[in-house]
Amino acid sequence: MPLNTPIISCHDCGLLQQISHMPEDGDIKCCRCDSTLRKRQRIEPSKSIEHTLTLVITALVLLLIANTYPILQIEAEGHALSSTLFSCVSYLFTHEMLFLAGLVFLTSIGAPLIQLTGLLYLFLPLHFNHVPPYAIQVYRWVRTIRAWSMLEVLMLGILVSIVKLSALATVIPGIALAAFALLILFIAAILSTLDTEMVWEQIAPDTQARETQQYTINTQLVNCHNCHLLCTVTTEHVQGENCCSRCQTALHFRKPDSLNRCTALVIAAAVLYIPANLLPVMVVSGMGTSEGDTIMSGVLYLASSGDMPLAIIVFIASICVPTIKLLILTLLLVTVHLKSQWRATDRTRLYRLTELIGRWSMVDIFVDTLMAALIQIEGLMVIEVGVGAVAFGAVVVLTILAAMAFDPRLIWDNMEQVNE
Ligand SMILES: [Zn+2]
Ligand SMILES: [Zn+2]
Repeated sequence: MPLNTPIISCHDCGLLQQISHMPEDGDIKCCRCDSTLRKRQRIEPSKSIEHTLTLVITALVLLLIANTYPILQIEAEGHALSSTLFSCVSYLFTHEMLFLAGLVFLTSIGAPLIQLTGLLYLFLPLHFNHVPPYAIQVYRWVRTIRAWSMLEVLMLGILVSIVKLSALATVIPGIALAAFALLILFIAAILSTLDTEMVWEQIAPDTQARETQQYTINTQLVNCHNCHLLCTVTTEHVQGENCCSRCQTALHFRKPDSLNRCTALVIAAAVLYIPANLLPVMVVSGMGTSEGDTIMSGVLYLASSGDMPLAIIVFIASICVPTIKLLILTLLLVTVHLKSQWRATDRTRLYRLTELIGRWSMVDIFVDTLMAALIQIEGLMVIEVGVGAVAFGAVVVLTILAAMAFDPRLIWDNMEQVNE
């Protein structure tokens, strides 16, 4: 095998593959499980830094506007009310829902801010051919935090809130809403054009070639979980603590304690899923009455008020997605535990599906928080976030962590053991 063509290990099935050339059309897919190994870059590497830097600066300006101005303004019974994202977080904070306040802050403000400032910190000096200090650590953080940035889900939450609020009051979308819509497009453009391999080559040059040359008969190849570099570990040191030579993440042949951690998280999520569906996620009080809304009654309300498409969207995001995710993770855990040979490619696809859909369950949390932060008209109508929303938020976080803890290569390890 020539040493100058990169050998990569598929992060979903662990198969070693050699990339001889980049195809003209489309990305390089794993020949066994169909996972994307390398994305085709549409922008020349020399222009990629400048291009990303422009997008990042624009996105940061949009993030600032989106957080300074109100997202929504409403007029009801002579009262004019407005809400920014910060006021949503501070509402939860002052109502002693610290977990939800932290979750909403992280997914709507914290994660996008860390992601964009991290990229600015890297790309501004790189534009002037200079590698900033701690570049590797910063880029590692930017990659890790990406899973928690949920602006597109927040946008859907805002749209659902507008429909729900328009039944109660006149809704005026704020400047921040337009800034949010643009911000989502810019972040999507950054993620689709960001050349990860090019960034690693700039901030940690030569690591790929060095790793390949060190490969001898006494070494074992280990794929880095974070940067996906194929690292060599000498067989005597395979049990000890090894770090990736490129991003310095601890190396493990498979995610440590994957099955136990994933099982514990799935059980915890399944238990909390019961109060999340039975307890009210939103409490509406006014004129001496108080009424709690569960997730299902919220969906039925939308359906009965003639918003069928929205009712279907909320039903899929808040009820189908968590249920499907818990069922898929349980299926994966059971089949891996039983060393099943059943449809490994399809099970790997199911795993990728759980990673893709999990975040959309956050819609209901965003809707409840926005409504509660806006409708606070003492004596007329007060909306509060119910305790069910805290349980539901915990289910979303636990299922995301469970999917992260599961190592899909365990599915294929069982297949290889039988073939040997
Ligand atoms: Zn694969
Ligand atoms: Zn690494």
